[in-house]
Amino acid sequence: MAVQQNKVSKSRRNNRRAHDALVAANPNECSNCGELKRPHHVCPSCGHYDSKEVVAINDEVEIDEDAA
Ligand SMILES: [Zn+2]
Repeated sequence: MAVQQNKVSKSRRNNRRAHDALVAANPNECSNCGELKRPHHVCPSCGHYDSKEVVAINDEVEIDEDAA
């Protein structure tokens, strides 16, 4: 077992933990569907980014039987 060389004081420990707080998410409204989404991320509900569809959402995809 590793043993620390020096005791970490309550002050030093608490100073280290001063930066550990979690920051709340800051969602934006999607410009296409209006759902809340993370900024600078593709919208998970409609697959749009910057007013363009960049990711096809599964229920909108039609499978071409001839290609299979
Ligand atoms: Zn959207």
